[in-house]
Amino acid sequence: MVIRQVSRRRFLQTGLCGLAAGAGLGLPLVRESSPAWALTRIRPPGALDARDFDAACIRCGLCVEACPYDTLRLLESDGSAQGGTPYFVAREVPCEMCADIPCLRACPTGALDPGLERIEDAAMGVAVLSHPEFCNSYVGNSFCDSCVRACPLQGRAISLAVGPTPMGGLFTPTVDPDVCTGCGKCEHDCIAPSAAIRVAPRHA
Ligand code: SF4
Ligand code: SF4
Ligand code: SF4
Repeated sequence: MVIRQVSRRRFLQTGLCGLAAGAGLGLPLVRESSPAWALTRIRPPGALDARDFDAACIRCGLCVEACPYDTLRLLESDGSAQGGTPYFVAREVPCEMCADIPCLRACPTGALDPGLERIEDAAMGVAVLSHPEFCNSYVGNSFCDSCVRACPLQGRAISLAVGPTPMGGLFTPTVDPDVCTGCGKCEHDCIAPSAAIRVAPRHA
């Protein structure tokens, strides 16, 4: 099976903050009608698009067991298509982007696509400065670059753009959606009490 990759830039344009649908794309992005949990729960690397994933995942939990960072957990069975399936919450335990992708290698069904060879090519979601009003650098409270330093793809997926912001700051955390994997390290390490930068999941 092959992941039908959504261009990350297209995803950001159509699915900003994980709240909007991929209107017209026919793709299983998070939708406005998705339950609240769907806005924070992210599928493991290599997860097929939602419909294919729901059909292929047998809820065995082997990916969860294989994750050395206890990032993954299984959604409580609730009778829905997503019940019993694996996910993570970036703010709690992000994905450490293991080079050998043990979660994916443990999957016996291809629900996590074995064709994904490089973790850098994973498209779990896209980080967005969804709450700039919480960002110290953006509002000018103090200098902060915690999100940038947390990123495994530092300097490529996220950087601080320099220049006056509409809220009186001088720096804007800026994500390149074509590089960001959605690992959630930035969201996890954001120093704001409520994260200013958050990952929009790719799956409904
Ligand atoms: S890439 Fe590593 S840290 Fe991320 S979910 Fe898979 S096993 Fe866990
Ligand atoms: S989610 Fe954040 S930390 Fe992870 S690759 Fe994207 S910008 Fe970097
Ligand atoms: S870690 Fe949070 S507060 Fe600091 S620059 Fe990044 S988004 Fe802003």
